[in-house]
Amino acid sequence: MYNYKKLLLSNKLKVLLIPDKKFKLVVFEINMLIGNDVETKELLEIGHFIEHLFSLYTSTKYPCGSKNRDVFYFKNIDIDAEIVNKNIKFKLEFEPKHTDFVIDILTNALLDFKIDNEMFIKEKNAVIEELNEIIKDDEYKFHKKISSIIYKNCQRRFSQDDRLANTKKIKPDQIISYFKNYFKSGNMIFTIFGNISSKQKKELLSRLSQIPKGKYKYKINSLNFNTKIIHLRKNTNICQLKLLFKTSYILFSKEAYHLEAVDDILTNDLNSILLKELRTNKGLIYNITGEFELDEVSKNLSLYELTSVVDCNNIYKLLESILLIFTKLKQCKLDNKYFVNLRNKNKIEYLKKTYILEPENVISNYSKEYLWSQPITKLKQRIDIENELNADLFKKYCNKIFTKDNLVVCYESNKNIDKQIKILLNNFK
Ligand SMILES: [Zn+2]
Repeated sequence: MYNYKKLLLSNKLKVLLIPDKKFKLVVFEINMLIGNDVETKELLEIGHFIEHLFSLYTSTKYPCGSKNRDVFYFKNIDIDAEIVNKNIKFKLEFEPKHTDFVIDILTNALLDFKIDNEMFIKEKNAVIEELNEIIKDDEYKFHKKISSIIYKNCQRRFSQDDRLANTKKIKPDQIISYFKNYFKSGNMIFTIFGNISSKQKKELLSRLSQIPKGKYKYKINSLNFNTKIIHLRKNTNICQLKLLFKTSYILFSKEAYHLEAVDDILTNDLNSILLKELRTNKGLIYNITGEFELDEVSKNLSLYELTSVVDCNNIYKLLESILLIFTKLKQCKLDNKYFVNLRNKNKIEYLKKTYILEPENVISNYSKEYLWSQPITKLKQRIDIENELNADLFKKYCNKIFTKDNLVVCYESNKNIDKQIKILLNNFK
Protein backbone atom coordinates (compact mmCIF):
# COMPACT_ATOMS: atom_id res chain seq x y z
CA MET A 1 0.00 0.00 0.00
CA TYR A 2 0.95 3.65 -0.04
CA ASN A 3 4.01 4.96 1.70
CA TYR A 4 4.12 8.44 3.08
CA LYS A 5 6.45 11.02 4.53
CA LYS A 6 5.44 13.38 7.32
CA LEU A 7 6.96 16.87 7.51
CA LEU A 8 6.54 19.59 10.11
CA LEU A 9 7.42 23.07 8.85
CA SER A 10 9.02 25.78 11.01
CA ASN A 11 5.59 27.37 11.62
CA LYS A 12 4.27 23.95 12.82
CA LEU A 13 2.28 23.38 9.64
CA LYS A 14 1.95 19.69 8.88
CA VAL A 15 2.74 18.44 5.38
CA LEU A 16 2.12 14.91 4.19
CA LEU A 17 3.80 13.55 1.07
CA ILE A 18 2.32 10.47 -0.60
CA PRO A 19 4.42 9.92 -3.72
CA ASP A 20 3.11 7.53 -6.35
CA LYS A 21 4.96 6.96 -9.60
CA LYS A 22 2.03 5.13 -11.21
CA PHE A 23 -0.43 7.97 -10.65
CA LYS A 24 -0.16 10.44 -13.53
CA LEU A 25 -2.03 13.24 -11.77
CA VAL A 26 -1.24 15.44 -8.78
CA VAL A 27 -3.59 16.04 -5.88
CA PHE A 28 -3.18 18.87 -3.37
CA GLU A 29 -5.44 18.71 -0.37
CA ILE A 30 -5.78 21.08 2.56
CA ASN A 31 -7.60 19.75 5.61
CA MET A 32 -8.33 21.89 8.62
CA LEU A 33 -9.37 20.77 12.09
CA ILE A 34 -11.87 23.60 12.22
CA GLY A 35 -15.45 23.23 11.00
CA ASN A 36 -19.04 24.03 11.95
CA ASP A 37 -18.20 23.34 15.61
CA VAL A 38 -16.12 26.53 16.02
CA GLU A 39 -19.03 28.79 15.11
CA THR A 40 -20.74 31.00 17.66
CA LYS A 41 -24.34 32.14 17.24
CA GLU A 42 -23.18 35.31 15.45
CA LEU A 43 -20.96 33.32 13.08
CA LEU A 44 -23.36 30.51 12.12
CA GLU A 45 -22.71 29.09 8.64
CA ILE A 46 -19.63 31.26 8.07
CA GLY A 47 -17.45 28.15 7.66
CA HIS A 48 -19.66 26.93 4.84
CA PHE A 49 -19.61 30.38 3.26
CA ILE A 50 -15.81 30.57 3.37
CA GLU A 51 -15.66 27.05 1.94
CA HIS A 52 -17.42 28.52 -1.13
CA LEU A 53 -15.39 31.74 -1.25
CA PHE A 54 -11.95 30.28 -0.62
CA SER A 55 -12.59 27.72 -3.39
CA LEU A 56 -12.36 30.67 -5.79
CA TYR A 57 -8.71 31.11 -4.68
CA THR A 58 -8.90 34.92 -4.97
CA SER A 59 -5.94 37.09 -3.90
CA THR A 60 -4.34 40.41 -4.91
CA LYS A 61 -2.63 38.60 -7.78
CA TYR A 62 -5.74 36.62 -8.84
CA PRO A 63 -8.61 38.92 -7.79
CA CYS A 64 -11.43 37.78 -10.06
CA GLY A 65 -13.32 34.71 -8.81
CA SER A 66 -15.27 34.00 -11.97
CA LYS A 67 -12.10 34.28 -14.06
CA ASN A 68 -10.28 31.86 -11.75
CA ARG A 69 -13.18 29.44 -12.11
CA ASP A 70 -12.87 29.71 -15.92
CA VAL A 71 -9.15 29.00 -15.83
CA PHE A 72 -9.68 25.92 -13.61
CA TYR A 73 -12.34 24.65 -15.97
CA PHE A 74 -10.35 25.07 -19.18
CA LYS A 75 -7.19 23.60 -17.65
CA ASN A 76 -9.33 20.73 -16.35
CA ILE A 77 -8.22 21.37 -12.79
CA ASP A 78 -10.79 19.61 -10.65
CA ILE A 79 -11.63 21.59 -7.51
CA ASP A 80 -13.63 20.35 -4.57
CA ALA A 81 -14.39 21.51 -1.04
CA GLU A 82 -16.51 20.47 1.90
CA ILE A 83 -17.16 21.28 5.54
CA VAL A 84 -18.36 19.09 8.42
CA ASN A 85 -18.33 19.48 12.20
CA LYS A 86 -14.58 19.49 12.69
CA ASN A 87 -13.09 19.58 9.20
CA ILE A 88 -12.89 21.89 6.19
CA LYS A 89 -11.34 20.37 3.09
CA PHE A 90 -10.08 21.96 -0.12
CA LYS A 91 -8.89 19.70 -2.91
CA LEU A 92 -7.31 20.31 -6.32
CA GLU A 93 -6.56 17.51 -8.78
CA PHE A 94 -4.66 18.29 -11.98
CA GLU A 95 -2.16 17.22 -14.60
CA PRO A 96 1.52 17.71 -13.65
CA LYS A 97 1.95 20.40 -16.34
CA HIS A 98 -0.24 22.74 -14.26
CA THR A 99 1.64 22.25 -10.99
CA ASP A 100 3.46 25.63 -11.09
CA PHE A 101 0.22 27.48 -11.75
CA VAL A 102 -1.67 25.66 -8.98
CA ILE A 103 1.12 26.29 -6.45
CA ASP A 104 1.04 29.98 -7.33
CA ILE A 105 -2.71 30.59 -7.22
CA LEU A 106 -3.19 28.44 -4.12
CA THR A 107 -0.37 29.90 -2.02
CA ASN A 108 -1.35 33.43 -3.03
CA ALA A 109 -4.82 32.72 -1.66
CA LEU A 110 -3.42 31.15 1.52
CA LEU A 111 -1.08 34.09 2.22
CA ASP A 112 -3.07 36.99 0.78
CA PHE A 113 -6.76 36.00 0.57
CA LYS A 114 -8.95 38.75 -0.89
CA ILE A 115 -12.70 38.67 -1.41
CA ASP A 116 -14.14 39.29 -4.86
CA ASN A 117 -17.13 41.43 -3.89
CA GLU A 118 -19.22 40.45 -6.87
CA MET A 119 -18.76 36.75 -6.15
CA PHE A 120 -19.44 37.40 -2.47
CA ILE A 121 -23.04 38.29 -3.31
CA LYS A 122 -23.51 35.39 -5.74
CA GLU A 123 -21.98 32.74 -3.49
CA LYS A 124 -23.96 34.07 -0.54
CA ASN A 125 -27.05 33.33 -2.59
CA ALA A 126 -25.72 29.88 -3.48
CA VAL A 127 -25.29 29.08 0.24
CA ILE A 128 -28.79 30.41 0.95
CA GLU A 129 -30.31 28.18 -1.74
CA GLU A 130 -28.30 25.21 -0.50
CA LEU A 131 -29.79 25.74 2.97
CA ASN A 132 -33.27 26.13 1.49
CA GLU A 133 -32.86 22.74 -0.11
CA ILE A 134 -32.07 21.14 3.26
CA ILE A 135 -34.95 22.96 4.93
CA LYS A 136 -37.54 21.83 2.38
CA ASP A 137 -36.37 18.22 2.75
CA ASP A 138 -38.93 15.87 4.23
CA GLU A 139 -36.72 14.75 7.12
CA TYR A 140 -35.64 18.22 8.17
CA LYS A 141 -38.22 18.80 10.93
CA PHE A 142 -37.39 15.50 12.58
CA HIS A 143 -33.63 16.20 12.55
CA LYS A 144 -34.21 19.74 13.77
CA LYS A 145 -36.21 18.57 16.77
CA ILE A 146 -33.72 15.84 17.68
CA SER A 147 -30.69 18.16 17.39
CA SER A 148 -32.30 20.91 19.44
CA ILE A 149 -32.66 18.42 22.31
CA ILE A 150 -29.60 16.16 22.22
CA TYR A 151 -27.19 19.01 21.39
CA LYS A 152 -28.87 21.38 23.84
CA ASN A 153 -25.56 22.10 25.59
CA CYS A 154 -23.45 22.75 22.54
CA GLN A 155 -23.21 24.74 19.38
CA ARG A 156 -24.83 22.02 17.22
CA ARG A 157 -28.24 22.88 18.70
CA PHE A 158 -28.74 25.63 16.12
CA SER A 159 -31.07 24.78 13.25
CA GLN A 160 -30.66 25.30 9.53
CA ASP A 161 -33.25 28.09 9.88
CA ASP A 162 -30.92 29.88 12.33
CA ARG A 163 -28.06 29.26 9.92
CA LEU A 164 -30.07 30.65 7.02
CA ALA A 165 -31.03 33.79 8.94
CA ASN A 166 -27.42 34.43 9.89
CA THR A 167 -26.04 33.78 6.40
CA LYS A 168 -28.16 36.66 5.13
CA LYS A 169 -26.38 38.97 7.61
CA ILE A 170 -22.75 37.95 6.99
CA LYS A 171 -20.50 40.79 5.76
CA PRO A 172 -17.20 40.51 3.81
CA ASP A 173 -15.12 41.82 6.73
CA GLN A 174 -16.45 38.99 8.94
CA ILE A 175 -15.22 36.49 6.35
CA ILE A 176 -11.78 38.11 6.30
CA SER A 177 -11.51 38.11 10.09
CA TYR A 178 -12.62 34.45 10.21
CA PHE A 179 -9.90 33.69 7.64
CA LYS A 180 -7.28 35.50 9.74
CA ASN A 181 -8.40 33.76 12.91
CA TYR A 182 -8.59 30.20 11.68
CA PHE A 183 -6.47 29.71 8.54
CA LYS A 184 -3.42 29.25 10.74
CA SER A 185 -0.56 26.78 10.52
CA GLY A 186 -1.56 24.61 13.51
CA ASN A 187 -5.09 24.12 12.20
CA MET A 188 -3.98 22.81 8.85
CA ILE A 189 -2.41 19.91 7.02
CA PHE A 190 -1.25 20.12 3.41
CA THR A 191 -1.16 16.81 1.54
CA ILE A 192 0.66 16.25 -1.75
CA PHE A 193 -0.33 13.07 -3.57
CA GLY A 194 1.53 12.08 -6.73
CA ASN A 195 4.77 13.51 -8.00
CA ILE A 196 6.04 17.06 -8.15
CA SER A 197 9.63 18.15 -8.84
CA SER A 198 11.98 18.95 -5.98
CA LYS A 199 12.11 22.58 -7.18
CA GLN A 200 8.31 22.78 -7.02
CA LYS A 201 8.29 21.14 -3.61
CA LYS A 202 10.88 23.59 -2.29
CA GLU A 203 8.91 26.58 -3.57
CA LEU A 204 5.62 25.25 -2.17
CA LEU A 205 7.02 24.45 1.28
CA SER A 206 8.79 27.79 1.54
CA ARG A 207 5.50 29.60 0.86
CA LEU A 208 3.52 27.37 3.23
CA SER A 209 5.98 28.09 6.03
CA GLN A 210 4.90 31.76 5.83
CA ILE A 211 1.36 30.94 7.01
CA PRO A 212 0.89 32.59 10.44
CA LYS A 213 1.28 30.40 13.51
CA GLY A 214 -1.65 29.46 15.72
CA LYS A 215 -3.89 26.60 16.73
CA TYR A 216 -7.54 26.42 17.79
CA LYS A 217 -8.41 24.54 20.96
CA TYR A 218 -11.85 22.94 21.27
CA LYS A 219 -13.92 22.94 24.43
CA ILE A 220 -15.10 19.56 25.68
CA ASN A 221 -18.84 19.05 25.02
CA SER A 222 -21.47 16.48 25.99
CA LEU A 223 -24.70 15.17 24.55
CA ASN A 224 -27.90 15.82 26.48
CA PHE A 225 -29.59 12.43 26.89
CA ASN A 226 -31.98 13.41 29.67
CA THR A 227 -35.03 13.41 27.38
CA LYS A 228 -35.49 9.72 26.67
CA ILE A 229 -38.29 9.85 24.11
CA ILE A 230 -38.59 12.36 21.27
CA HIS A 231 -41.80 12.33 19.26
CA LEU A 232 -42.60 14.39 16.19
CA ARG A 233 -46.23 14.35 15.09
CA LYS A 234 -46.55 13.69 11.38
CA ASN A 235 -49.65 13.14 9.30
CA THR A 236 -48.58 10.06 7.44
CA ASN A 237 -48.65 6.33 7.96
CA ILE A 238 -44.98 5.86 7.11
CA CYS A 239 -42.74 6.81 9.99
CA GLN A 240 -39.12 6.94 10.93
CA LEU A 241 -37.77 5.30 14.04
CA LYS A 242 -34.35 6.39 15.21
CA LEU A 243 -32.51 4.97 18.19
CA LEU A 244 -29.55 6.95 19.52
CA PHE A 245 -27.03 5.32 21.85
CA LYS A 246 -24.26 7.27 23.60
CA THR A 247 -20.97 5.48 22.97
CA SER A 248 -18.22 7.37 24.86
CA TYR A 249 -15.37 6.59 22.48
CA ILE A 250 -13.46 9.07 20.37
CA LEU A 251 -12.56 8.66 16.75
CA PHE A 252 -9.04 7.27 16.20
CA SER A 253 -9.31 5.00 19.23
CA LYS A 254 -8.79 1.28 18.79
CA GLU A 255 -12.40 0.88 19.88
CA ALA A 256 -13.53 2.98 16.91
CA TYR A 257 -12.29 0.25 14.58
CA HIS A 258 -13.93 -2.47 16.66
CA LEU A 259 -17.23 -0.57 16.51
CA GLU A 260 -17.06 -0.50 12.72
CA ALA A 261 -17.03 -4.27 12.88
CA VAL A 262 -19.83 -4.34 15.47
CA ASP A 263 -22.02 -2.27 13.14
CA ASP A 264 -21.10 -4.54 10.27
CA ILE A 265 -22.37 -7.59 12.14
CA LEU A 266 -25.53 -5.77 13.25
CA THR A 267 -26.75 -4.09 10.06
CA ASN A 268 -24.58 -4.35 6.98
CA ASP A 269 -26.08 -7.32 5.20
CA LEU A 270 -29.44 -9.00 4.68
CA ASN A 271 -28.13 -11.71 6.94
CA SER A 272 -26.82 -9.32 9.61
CA ILE A 273 -28.33 -9.77 13.08
CA LEU A 274 -30.88 -6.95 12.94
CA LEU A 275 -31.93 -7.28 9.31
CA LYS A 276 -32.30 -11.02 9.51
CA GLU A 277 -34.64 -10.80 12.48
CA LEU A 278 -36.58 -7.65 11.51
CA ARG A 279 -36.91 -8.25 7.78
CA THR A 280 -36.48 -11.96 7.04
CA ASN A 281 -38.07 -13.40 10.19
CA LYS A 282 -40.61 -10.73 11.19
CA GLY A 283 -41.34 -8.95 7.89
CA LEU A 284 -41.46 -5.55 9.63
CA ILE A 285 -39.08 -3.44 7.60
CA TYR A 286 -37.18 -3.12 4.35
CA ASN A 287 -33.93 -1.76 5.77
CA ILE A 288 -32.20 -0.55 8.90
CA THR A 289 -29.01 1.50 8.85
CA GLY A 290 -26.47 1.87 11.61
CA GLU A 291 -23.82 4.53 11.95
CA PHE A 292 -21.25 5.33 14.59
CA GLU A 293 -20.61 9.08 14.71
CA LEU A 294 -17.54 9.44 16.83
CA ASP A 295 -16.15 12.86 17.69
CA GLU A 296 -12.47 13.78 17.34
CA VAL A 297 -12.29 15.62 20.67
CA SER A 298 -15.24 14.99 23.01
CA LYS A 299 -15.96 11.35 23.71
CA ASN A 300 -19.29 12.36 25.22
CA LEU A 301 -20.43 13.74 21.85
CA SER A 302 -20.08 10.32 20.23
CA LEU A 303 -23.11 8.22 19.42
CA TYR A 304 -24.48 5.25 17.49
CA GLU A 305 -27.53 5.92 15.33
CA LEU A 306 -29.94 3.21 14.15
CA THR A 307 -32.57 4.30 11.63
CA SER A 308 -35.47 2.52 10.00
CA VAL A 309 -38.68 3.41 8.19
CA VAL A 310 -41.83 1.54 9.21
CA ASP A 311 -45.63 1.62 9.08
CA CYS A 312 -46.86 3.78 12.00
CA ASN A 313 -48.88 0.87 13.37
CA ASN A 314 -45.70 -1.19 13.65
CA ILE A 315 -43.47 1.30 15.47
CA TYR A 316 -44.04 -0.28 18.86
CA LYS A 317 -43.52 -3.79 17.53
CA LEU A 318 -40.30 -2.75 15.79
CA LEU A 319 -38.89 -1.06 18.88
CA GLU A 320 -39.85 -4.01 21.06
CA SER A 321 -38.12 -6.41 18.67
CA ILE A 322 -34.92 -4.34 18.50
CA LEU A 323 -34.67 -4.07 22.29
CA LEU A 324 -35.26 -7.80 22.59
CA ILE A 325 -32.40 -8.49 20.17
CA PHE A 326 -30.06 -6.29 22.20
CA THR A 327 -31.13 -7.96 25.44
CA LYS A 328 -30.24 -11.35 23.96
CA LEU A 329 -26.92 -10.08 22.59
CA LYS A 330 -26.02 -8.81 26.06
CA GLN A 331 -26.82 -12.15 27.70
CA CYS A 332 -25.56 -14.77 25.25
CA LYS A 333 -22.35 -14.99 23.31
CA LEU A 334 -22.79 -14.68 19.56
CA ASP A 335 -21.88 -17.74 17.45
CA ASN A 336 -18.27 -17.73 16.33
CA LYS A 337 -19.32 -18.06 12.68
CA TYR A 338 -20.05 -14.31 12.60
CA PHE A 339 -16.45 -13.50 13.48
CA VAL A 340 -15.00 -16.02 11.04
CA ASN A 341 -17.18 -14.35 8.43
CA LEU A 342 -15.96 -10.89 9.44
CA ARG A 343 -12.32 -11.89 8.95
CA ASN A 344 -13.12 -13.39 5.58
CA LYS A 345 -14.98 -10.29 4.50
CA ASN A 346 -12.05 -8.13 5.57
CA LYS A 347 -9.69 -10.35 3.58
CA ILE A 348 -11.82 -9.80 0.47
CA GLU A 349 -11.94 -6.05 1.13
CA TYR A 350 -8.16 -6.00 1.39
CA LEU A 351 -7.77 -7.86 -1.91
CA LYS A 352 -10.16 -5.45 -3.64
CA LYS A 353 -8.56 -2.32 -2.23
CA THR A 354 -5.04 -3.36 -3.10
CA TYR A 355 -6.19 -4.06 -6.64
CA ILE A 356 -8.27 -0.93 -7.22
CA LEU A 357 -6.21 1.81 -5.61
CA GLU A 358 -8.34 4.53 -4.07
CA PRO A 359 -6.13 7.60 -3.61
CA GLU A 360 -9.02 9.66 -2.23
CA ASN A 361 -9.56 7.38 0.73
CA VAL A 362 -5.85 7.14 1.38
CA ILE A 363 -5.43 10.91 1.36
CA SER A 364 -8.39 11.51 3.62
CA ASN A 365 -7.54 8.75 6.13
CA TYR A 366 -3.82 9.49 6.36
CA SER A 367 -4.15 13.27 6.48
CA LYS A 368 -6.95 13.21 9.03
CA GLU A 369 -4.86 11.09 11.39
CA TYR A 370 -1.74 13.21 11.00
CA LEU A 371 -3.77 16.44 11.31
CA TRP A 372 -5.09 15.27 14.70
CA SER A 373 -1.58 14.12 15.74
CA GLN A 374 -2.51 10.42 15.63
CA PRO A 375 -0.37 7.61 14.25
CA ILE A 376 -1.19 6.85 10.62
CA THR A 377 -3.03 3.52 10.24
CA LYS A 378 -2.52 1.69 6.98
CA LEU A 379 -5.30 -0.49 5.57
CA LYS A 380 -3.65 -3.72 6.73
CA GLN A 381 -3.33 -2.43 10.31
CA ARG A 382 -6.92 -1.20 10.31
CA ILE A 383 -8.15 -4.60 9.20
CA ASP A 384 -5.97 -6.35 11.81
CA ILE A 385 -7.57 -4.26 14.56
CA GLU A 386 -11.10 -4.92 13.24
CA ASN A 387 -10.30 -8.63 13.15
CA GLU A 388 -9.61 -8.62 16.89
CA LEU A 389 -13.37 -8.55 17.46
CA ASN A 390 -14.54 -11.87 18.88
CA ALA A 391 -17.60 -13.15 20.73
CA ASP A 392 -16.38 -11.96 24.15
CA LEU A 393 -15.49 -8.47 22.98
CA PHE A 394 -18.74 -8.19 21.00
CA LYS A 395 -20.76 -9.06 24.09
CA LYS A 396 -18.74 -6.57 26.13
CA TYR A 397 -19.48 -3.74 23.69
CA CYS A 398 -23.19 -4.64 23.60
CA ASN A 399 -23.34 -4.50 27.39
CA LYS A 400 -21.49 -1.21 27.48
CA ILE A 401 -23.41 0.60 24.73
CA PHE A 402 -26.93 -0.82 24.40
CA THR A 403 -28.36 0.18 27.77
CA LYS A 404 -31.40 2.17 28.85
CA ASP A 405 -29.22 5.01 30.19
CA ASN A 406 -27.44 5.40 26.86
CA LEU A 407 -30.61 5.38 24.80
CA VAL A 408 -32.88 8.03 23.32
CA VAL A 409 -35.84 6.82 21.23
CA CYS A 410 -36.92 9.19 18.45
CA TYR A 411 -39.95 8.55 16.30
CA GLU A 412 -42.29 10.29 13.90
CA SER A 413 -45.89 9.20 13.99
CA ASN A 414 -49.47 10.39 13.64
CA LYS A 415 -50.09 9.18 17.17
CA ASN A 416 -48.16 9.64 20.35
CA ILE A 417 -47.18 6.33 21.97
CA ASP A 418 -44.72 7.76 24.52
CA LYS A 419 -46.51 5.96 27.37
CA GLN A 420 -46.18 2.53 25.81
CA ILE A 421 -42.54 3.23 24.90
CA LYS A 422 -41.82 4.30 28.46
CA ILE A 423 -43.03 0.92 29.73
CA LEU A 424 -40.85 -0.85 27.14
CA LEU A 425 -37.83 1.19 28.24
CA ASN A 426 -38.47 0.42 31.88
CA ASN A 427 -38.10 -3.25 31.10
CA PHE A 428 -34.91 -2.69 29.10
CA LYS A 429 -31.89 -2.63 31.37
ZN1 LIG B 1 -22.02 24.59 -0.18
